[in-house]
Amino acid sequence: MAAFHYFKEHVQKAADLLGLSSEDRLRLETPDRVLKADLEVTLDSGEVATYPAYRVQFNNARGPYKGGIRFHPDADEDEVSALAAMMAIKCAVVDIPFGGAKGGVAVDPKKHSSSELESIARAYVRSFADHLGPDMDVPAPDVYTTSELMAVMLDEYETIVGKPSPAMITGKPLDKGGILGRDTATADGAIMVLHSLLADQHQDLSKLTSAVQGAGNAGAQAARLLVQGGAKVIALSDSHGTIANKLGLDIETILSIKEEKGSVQEATEEGDILPAEVLIGAPVDILVPAALEEQIHKDNVESVRAGIVLEIANGPVTPEADAYLAAQKVAVVPDVLANAGGVTVSYFEWLQNRSGETWTREQVEERLQKVMEDAYRDVADFALMRGVTLREAAYALAISRILEAK
Ligand code: NAD
Repeated sequence: MAAFHYFKEHVQKAADLLGLSSEDRLRLETPDRVLKADLEVTLDSGEVATYPAYRVQFNNARGPYKGGIRFHPDADEDEVSALAAMMAIKCAVVDIPFGGAKGGVAVDPKKHSSSELESIARAYVRSFADHLGPDMDVPAPDVYTTSELMAVMLDEYETIVGKPSPAMITGKPLDKGGILGRDTATADGAIMVLHSLLADQHQDLSKLTSAVQGAGNAGAQAARLLVQGGAKVIALSDSHGTIANKLGLDIETILSIKEEKGSVQEATEEGDILPAEVLIGAPVDILVPAALEEQIHKDNVESVRAGIVLEIANGPVTPEADAYLAAQKVAVVPDVLANAGGVTVSYFEWLQNRSGETWTREQVEERLQKVMEDAYRDVADFALMRGVTLREAAYALAISRILEAK
């Protein structure tokens, strides 16, 4: 998987910066534990099917392992390991007391009924329960796993251990111990970091333009917040196409049309309808990739006109494109910082469950803001002091925190 390859490149660069030994480098690239199981599940037809499942516990030097579980046909040991490693880095960047883990089941959720998915979720927990728990390893939702499935997993776990244990998993529905604001936390955190960066650059968001790639959970909320901050969002895309209007898009109207008709392209009265791929070269100050990995690469990076790239998606810029952007003095806010708001609010959920408190949305936002601003400050100061990019600084800072804890 490209992502693991990129991860290793970023780790090696940071290791060079920190002057690490080959032994330390190897430790940073080797998971603590790779758990595998074949989940046997009885389908609605009565037939029994088997699905390979993984839980990779990468590193718990800084606290319990933490990371989502995805249901996806491509999930395999390599991909899950890469994602687990990135979680360890991300948690260390925002300085929350978690390590890194990830889980996956190689299954196509679109081919299964909700009761079959529930059976897969229960089988997953039964297979790995000995290694899960509030102080050991705390899963969460990821690609194609929902808060409802988290409630199912919690129920299975509590049946096994024979007592309530809401802090064993995060991303739960509110009535099962979930937290307010988790649904918007990723984009909220990213825009908080953007505000800090703009303050350092003495720039005013209300005078800037932006383009957002992806109108899903994260992209839609990012576009809303940019508009709320006074910026013009002049282009927004989804997998079908881009909508653009240099006077600024009416994001709420476009999102409600997308909700109803399936694509931003249907909002024909709101702007020009263009191919999806033109978004990367939009003439804007801030480019926000919030869709998929590897969207800015060697063949399109020269078209980027933004001075700031805010990586809400995981791995949207390839290392080659990253080097080009750095040479052009484009400020790339790396994924491990920009999208860490989600895991930060998961940490708040875990704290809330352990203390028996219920936090208000305002408390969540206030605490998230503090974490994201502090993380940005640490990374930006490191970058300035060492004359490196924000990505190099984020990795180096995270790695030094992990090694210190070890
Ligand atoms: P999502 O599935 O809700 O939305 C993805 C969006 O991207 C959809 O609107 C889709 O149409 C669009 N898209 C797909 N291909 C595209 C293309 N070629 N051009 C333009 N748009 C395209 O996913 P999400 O939860 O919003 O996550 C988006 C990204 O953010 C992913 O990389 C994810 O890993 C990352 N991320 C999300 C969270 C979170 O809490 N949601 C946390 C961390 C990282």
